[in-house]
Amino acid sequence: MIKETFTIEQLSEGFFELFEDGTILKMNPKRLENPMEDPNLGKYSSALGIDPLLITNGEENVIVDPGLGWGLDYKSDFEDTSNIVTNLDIFGLRPKDIQHVVLTHLHFDHAAGATFVNENFETTATFPNAIYYVHKDEWNYALTQLENDKDLIGADYRLDELYKLVAEKRIHFIEGDELALLNGIELIKTGGHTPGHLIVKISDQEKIAYFLGDLVPTEFHLNQPSHPHTVLDSVQAQKAKALILKKAYKEKATMYFYHSLYKKTGQLSVDKNQKYVLKKT
Ligand SMILES: [Zn+2]
Repeated sequence: MIKETFTIEQLSEGFFELFEDGTILKMNPKRLENPMEDPNLGKYSSALGIDPLLITNGEENVIVDPGLGWGLDYKSDFEDTSNIVTNLDIFGLRPKDIQHVVLTHLHFDHAAGATFVNENFETTATFPNAIYYVHKDEWNYALTQLENDKDLIGADYRLDELYKLVAEKRIHFIEGDELALLNGIELIKTGGHTPGHLIVKISDQEKIAYFLGDLVPTEFHLNQPSHPHTVLDSVQAQKAKALILKKAYKEKATMYFYHSLYKKTGQLSVDKNQKYVLKKT
């Protein structure tokens, strides 16, 4: 009998620096101690975390956004980096134990860890037994971006690897607005950031939780209007965000953020100014 309680873990890949052209580099976390004194941070670049999610009920294991995938490739330059495989090891799991991989959208900082290059230089699914879930609208949009180096918001699609997953029939393309992945895990299309952007809602007898992908990438974005430089359709992003946050607040839900540096998770609450804040859970 499968236990209907989900354990949710964040699998941190560490701290990174994102430049205006979309380049991402590993960052020394010491630089965050005095960010105001750093000549680059905030001016030419911003700091971000990368935190894939593991959801498990003890039988079924789900990964949401497998991260950058640094260090996964054969003879990688990043052998010592923390990646999805090294992080799963902490929980006694191997890539073959994962049955479901959700890609909220196909920007490489969320999806690159879906595959790696093996010792025969073949692109290979990181999770050999998993079905990968992608919204059809996301895939169709990503295909239109092939001639562009970066899309309108500076983020990169790297589809060569994902083609391999399609060819091997590992990808399940979602067509509607919602998909019940498991009893208690729903994938909900929000669009906004990208046309097929998904979020994940997790509910069991004890809790309700949301992983909002790049719809709300950090706690600082809870009260900020969606910025046209970071979303393709800011009106849709704003609408989806307002609706989800209102619902999540009523549900006393716990929020999980993918790009946070500081508060990576917390229960949604409002302060005296009617601004959303996170309470420690
Ligand atoms: Zn993105």
